[in-house]
Amino acid sequence: MTEYDVIVIGGGSAGLNTAINCSKAGLRVAVIEEHSKIGFPRHCSGLYSTRFLSLMEVKEDFYEHEVFGAKFHSPSGKVIELMRKERVAFVINRELLDDFLGKSAQEFGVNVISNSKVLDFSTDLNGATIITTDGKTLTTKLICGADGSNSFIRRKLGIEAPHKLHGIMAITDEADYNNFVDLYFDNKLYPGFFAWKIPRGKTIEYGIAGEVGPNNVHNFNNFLLKFNVTKYELSSGMIPFGFQKSYADRILLVGDAAAQVKPLTGGGVIYGMICASAAANIFKEAIEKNRFDENFLSRYQKMWRSRIGKGISRGLLIRKIYAKMPNKAIDASFAILNNRITKNIFENHGDMEFILERKPHAAILK
Ligand SMILES: Cc1cc2nc3c(=O)[nH]c(=O)nc-3n(C[C@H](O)[C@H](O)[C@H](O)COP(=O)(O)OP(=O)(O)OC[C@H]3O[C@@H](n4cnc5c(N)ncnc54)[C@H](O)[C@@H]3O)c2cc1C
Repeated sequence: MTEYDVIVIGGGSAGLNTAINCSKAGLRVAVIEEHSKIGFPRHCSGLYSTRFLSLMEVKEDFYEHEVFGAKFHSPSGKVIELMRKERVAFVINRELLDDFLGKSAQEFGVNVISNSKVLDFSTDLNGATIITTDGKTLTTKLICGADGSNSFIRRKLGIEAPHKLHGIMAITDEADYNNFVDLYFDNKLYPGFFAWKIPRGKTIEYGIAGEVGPNNVHNFNNFLLKFNVTKYELSSGMIPFGFQKSYADRILLVGDAAAQVKPLTGGGVIYGMICASAAANIFKEAIEKNRFDENFLSRYQKMWRSRIGKGISRGLLIRKIYAKMPNKAIDASFAILNNRITKNIFENHGDMEFILERKPHAAILK
């Protein structure tokens, strides 16, 4: 008899949501997190579209600011401003969000074990065994690998690593209550992605992301200098993209570990939460049917791909085209996009990625 039905490795938003959903379904669940405090250190901007509200309630104390639109800056300085009458996104304190999820998990009966790193795991016909740094050996029927973009579980399973971008961000203690984010496009400085300035109410966040390269830190420092920023709190992380296998005998991968990330924005929290609920459903079914083989668990991949697969594949296509564009072509496309049609699409739909998931929108794809 194993101690647990599901052990979740990684106490980020994807892992904690999976654990909460599994526990609600009556399963015996533990979460193992290597850091001593859930949610820390910071590794996310916490900018989430209003769709976040359909997934969970935004608590007053982790809400920092709200955003109604964006100013897009081309390499040569052209600006397109897209604003809606209602808010399109929230700026959330991600550390407090994860801390809240960790406490909720405990309230739902999950054993949250922090300050404990998973060193190894094995599976066989009788169950799975997990070994941690604090000398514990835990047994379970199923494992959820929610251990982020550099997932050890994925690596040990021999699943090919997804393509990754490098993101760096800095938060200063100046106040900014503007209701738009600034996005800076330049394929020489932020290859394949962009730089950003996010108003966080009492603070401001500056960040860049792009293909991994030797100049990333230098380009980030130059970006900060544009705004005379010298004092800040720094953090960074990898952003995974693309489809990958997310199941094996007794194991499902969730969140960044499965590259469940929006290719256009690098946002992974909402997709991770959607997939956490799919993973919990499959874990419950596996326990009920006593089926732990990868053939049975493969239905998880079909389930999450049916929910977010279109958004990812269309986003990947657009990203691929963008990544090959020289700065001159980006500037030219700004001239084309700065028109009433683009503004109408944004004013009427707001969450561009949601449109990509639902139906091909000819005007946007063009
Ligand atoms: C600079 C930057 C800005 C971003 N901004 C946004 C944004 O604004 N909006 C958005 O939606 N997304 C954003 N993202 C992406 C977002 O941060 C991720 O998609 C999200 O954190 C994924 O959640 P997760 O739970 O899958 O992984 P994580 O949040 O990375 O959690 C994984 C957890 O696993 C733990 N862990 C790893 N290995 C082990 C081990 N062996 N044993 C025990 N524990 C382990 C880690 O400590 C970590 O706590 C950003 C990413 C970066 C890099």
